Amino acid sequence: MPHLQCDVAIIGAGTAGLVAERSARRRGAKTLLIDDQFAGTTCTTAGCMPSKLLIAAAAAAHAVRRARIFGISAQPEIDGRAVMDRLRKERDRFVAGVQADLAKLPEGVKHLGRAAFTGPTTLKLDDGTTVSAKAVVIATGSRPSIPPALRDLGDRLLTNETIFELPTLPSSVAVVGAGPLGLELAQALARLGVRVELFDKGDTIAGLEDAAVEQVLTTILEDDFSIHLGVDLAASREADSVTLYWTGDSEGEGRFDYLLVAAGRPPQLDGLGLGTTGLDLDEHGLPSVDPSTMQCGSAPIFMAGDVDHARPVLHEAQAEGNIAGRNAAAYPHVTRTRRMVPLAIMFTDPSMAVVGTMPKAPDEDFVCGSAFYEDQGRAKVFATNRGLVNIYADRQGGRLTAAVMVGPAVEHSAHLLAWAMEQGMTASEVLDMPFYHPTYEEGLKPAFRSICKAVSAPASDRDDGFVPGT
Ligand SMILES: Cc1cc2nc3c(=O)[nH]c(=O)nc-3n(C[C@H](O)[C@H](O)[C@H](O)COP(=O)(O)OP(=O)(O)OC[C@H]3O[C@@H](n4cnc5c(N)ncnc54)[C@H](O)[C@@H]3O)c2cc1C
Repeated sequence: MPHLQCDVAIIGAGTAGLVAERSARRRGAKTLLIDDQFAGTTCTTAGCMPSKLLIAAAAAAHAVRRARIFGISAQPEIDGRAVMDRLRKERDRFVAGVQADLAKLPEGVKHLGRAAFTGPTTLKLDDGTTVSAKAVVIATGSRPSIPPALRDLGDRLLTNETIFELPTLPSSVAVVGAGPLGLELAQALARLGVRVELFDKGDTIAGLEDAAVEQVLTTILEDDFSIHLGVDLAASREADSVTLYWTGDSEGEGRFDYLLVAAGRPPQLDGLGLGTTGLDLDEHGLPSVDPSTMQCGSAPIFMAGDVDHARPVLHEAQAEGNIAGRNAAAYPHVTRTRRMVPLAIMFTDPSMAVVGTMPKAPDEDFVCGSAFYEDQGRAKVFATNRGLVNIYADRQGGRLTAAVMVGPAVEHSAHLLAWAMEQGMTASEVLDMPFYHPTYEEGLKPAFRSICKAVSAPASDRDDGFVPGT
């Protein structure tokens, strides 16, 4: 059987692995990129892009329906096959982009196979090939978790890996999991005319740590589908449907075409043989990873992307791939990188965003300023005047530290806040920046102003009074 030698072996050719390979090769390392499929990244095949394509179709249907607010009457005619065909056609273009990048890799870098460690820097692939490297980057991503009670539903059980393959839109779906992935898909399906109910054994949605914002989000989403929290589930399969039984904070049963499980994505570590590496593993089989170097302990092993279970979003997979690839190439001369301000966005309508790091408890060290949208100028004009933004700042001077946001276009204002936090800006400094009228960004001013009032910051001669229409 062949034996391959390299400086840096990367396991997994998703976003994190592709970036790690490029980063290590740019620094002169001889790289080997191993993947069990080379089918494209999760983002393009079954993640960000197909889910946003479904959301785009739902937004079009919703825009037609709500046109009557503005005196325009129309009813959407939803062609489920056409919706799914367009989704797959556009999705496949993104996948083709990944394949084109893979095809440009230098000869000998790509290797198809499922890898398992046999030691800290040695691997065995399922085709019998053995690999020895100076350092290894694990970028194996995550996979859907299916609760045991729901496992026997055959093809009536959907996950993000199968839902986008449906030939047409179903007529009813029970969504299991009130995290961002479940909520995005539930709302999109509902707005495309699918009867949707959502279930979760926990008692919060979207993992939000701000109860007031969570309440606003729940109320808004319940316009499109019902949400059952704090429930245990059991299910049985009939010929072409599933009956779901729930007990707990509410009780009931319902029949659905499909069950869509979006109940978390644990790291993909199965069969990876981490036990042979000598790393200390926690009860979930995960080593501890230094987020500033992506190194596992002091070993020549690095992790990047969803597999480290820290910030499971695309731009962080890219950032971590870059850090891991660079440090793997330079091992043992590992350098630290300051990580970006955390930013997570959920593409429901209205969108939800969490920026920065929430204070552990809203105690005397922090202040919180709120912005409401009911009377906000731009939001009223476009009839999007629902939402709540809570911005957190430290009491000593008003430096911005976190924001939890639900409201019109918060995906954009969340970026501005993340950038302001990266610059270490205070609420007062943000208020000294231009705010065009009438925009959603203006709607954030009340939150910044109340932070300024609450903190012991020097007085400004800026006019912080109310301006009609904003
Ligand atoms: C439905 C959905 C919607 C999402 N929407 C967004 C969004 O809007 N914005 C956002 O920022 N993020 C979003 N995400 C998250 C984002 O897609 C992930 O953070 C990102 O794709 C993670 O990339 P990765 O490189 O860690 O993993 P992946 O892209 O999954 O790559 C892992 C690779 O490793 C391979 N592999 C695994 N084990 C082995 C092994 N033993 N040997 C060889 N190869 C192996 C796999 O086959 C795979 O190719 C979404 C995710 C989902 C599921």
